[in-house]
Amino acid sequence: MSRFTPETIERVREAADIVEVVSAHTDLRRQGERFTGLCPFHEERTPSFSVKPAEGFYYCFGCEAGGDTIRFVQEKEGLSFPDAVEALAERYGVEVERETEDPKAEEARRRRGRLGDALQRAATFYANYLWDSDKALKARRYLLEERGLGEEVLRAFGVGFAPSAWDTIYKRGQISGFSVDELLAAGLIQRSQKSPGGHYDRFRARITFPVRDHRGRVVGFGARGMGTDAKPKYLNSPENEVYRKSRTLYGIDRARGPIARGSRAVVVEGYTDVLALHQAGIEEAVAVMGTAITPEQLKLLGGYAEEVVLALDADRAGREAMLRAQRVAGSGRLRLLVAAMPAGEDPADMLRSEAGASRLRELIADAIDLAAFHVRAILDDADLSTPAGRDRALDEAAPVLVAMGETITRQEMVREVGDRLDAAPELVAARMRAGGRRGRPESEPAAAPVATAPAPSRPRREPTQEERREAMMLALCLDAPEAAGPYLERLGDDHFSSPVLRAAFERIRERPGDPLEGLGEADSALINAISRLRAVEHEPPTRENLEFRWMLLEHDRLGRALRHGSALEPAELVAMQKERGRLSDAISSAEQRFGGAVPGPTAT
Ligand SMILES: [Zn+2]
Repeated sequence: MSRFTPETIERVREAADIVEVVSAHTDLRRQGERFTGLCPFHEERTPSFSVKPAEGFYYCFGCEAGGDTIRFVQEKEGLSFPDAVEALAERYGVEVERETEDPKAEEARRRRGRLGDALQRAATFYANYLWDSDKALKARRYLLEERGLGEEVLRAFGVGFAPSAWDTIYKRGQISGFSVDELLAAGLIQRSQKSPGGHYDRFRARITFPVRDHRGRVVGFGARGMGTDAKPKYLNSPENEVYRKSRTLYGIDRARGPIARGSRAVVVEGYTDVLALHQAGIEEAVAVMGTAITPEQLKLLGGYAEEVVLALDADRAGREAMLRAQRVAGSGRLRLLVAAMPAGEDPADMLRSEAGASRLRELIADAIDLAAFHVRAILDDADLSTPAGRDRALDEAAPVLVAMGETITRQEMVREVGDRLDAAPELVAARMRAGGRRGRPESEPAAAPVATAPAPSRPRREPTQEERREAMMLALCLDAPEAAGPYLERLGDDHFSSPVLRAAFERIRERPGDPLEGLGEADSALINAISRLRAVEHEPPTRENLEFRWMLLEHDRLGRALRHGSALEPAELVAMQKERGRLSDAISSAEQRFGGAVPGPTAT
């Protein structure tokens, strides 16, 4: 995908109302020129999150999250940089322009757009057919009466019906200007085995569920056959340029907002389950497409949610897949929970009755930790009557316990395992050390962060005096890039003792007016550092202050050079010492002028 033009990103930043965007996630209160509120990125009771609308920045003094509106949307809605820019551009009516891109990439993007158009047109056609055609009567009856779904939710999700003819989309698609190749690539038609050169519609006489990406673009279909002889019962789009089953979650486009608001997602198995849950007001529901949940899907959900409730049949999801999911989740902050569905019932069934609906809500609310659920399932299945059976159960449970990370839940489960298997805690611990290795599939690197707990919030080191001065200088440069121009020229990498500040400096020197421009996903550390600098309380960026700050940095630089300067020529050493002495004097007299208001250098 080609990059946006700098002007586009600039216009998006200017047009987007950061207070409005942030307010969807936390209540903000005006305090002078800034707004404050509870941080939407970490748990807190007292507000340490602040937004400066004039500058278009947010920053949290608690967890140090910070950035501009684009960054906020990226973080809070789990979008990539380009997606966040596009989402904001759409919302605030900014026209997007792109740098001329290499022809191949442009062609690929154009083609994905074409395939998306073909899929969207097909979806619209199927949806109209469901509601307008007599031939879709049976399908309507099935959805409305048998499944108890309302017209409103069916229309909202664009559910449709594909006619039984062999060539509806094949013909209509071409009339709409799509080539046979494009229709094939979109997975809407397929080649005929019987008559070479012939093609026919992939979906016929089936209820169609358009599958969309998180931005609402149709990428494929799930299609349910009518009648008992329909084979297969569900036919899906083939994997292709726009559709990847493992990266897609049915309903994510509509569930995204509710998931982000409640920090929780509910994952079910079927299309109609998603519809039924949304209809029942559980709008954070999405479905996996007939497979176990994948790392990509968890990552997608991790962009919005802190908790993922799997309302799946635990056996069908498969233990290996659950373990894998646990590992993926274990390395992030996502918590996986299981709502144990009663055997033979799916959420859509349960929602048919009032009692079932409240039971489902309870199951979701009472969902238990996935790993704990898994360990209990192992214990339930184990032959506890013999030592060998208990040993096998311990072998099986150990890697799951390891994958849980160092949590209280794990500690409780270790105790439970010990009790039920009649095993000493030391034995459980020893087996966990062994099982953690034995139980790991070959393909996983041995050092995978399986056994590590979710990273504890690292204790923050107090910045050194040198770092504080460096930050102050950069804060002034950010505040008044023009006045600071000459100083940005004079400053060098060696004026910054902190690698983070050095990187920020390089960036600010490169683009003094807009250091965040063009920074993307990979630059979060830099974005945070610069946002933090923007939040630093500092003196006004007068020439005098800039000069003073410059002297402090130069003074510190010389100090460092002298400390590590064993390789210096004696004459050079003397010159540096002299210069440093001169600076010390100049700094003291400046401090006297300021009346000691500015932190000066201490003798080093
Ligand atoms: Zn925070």
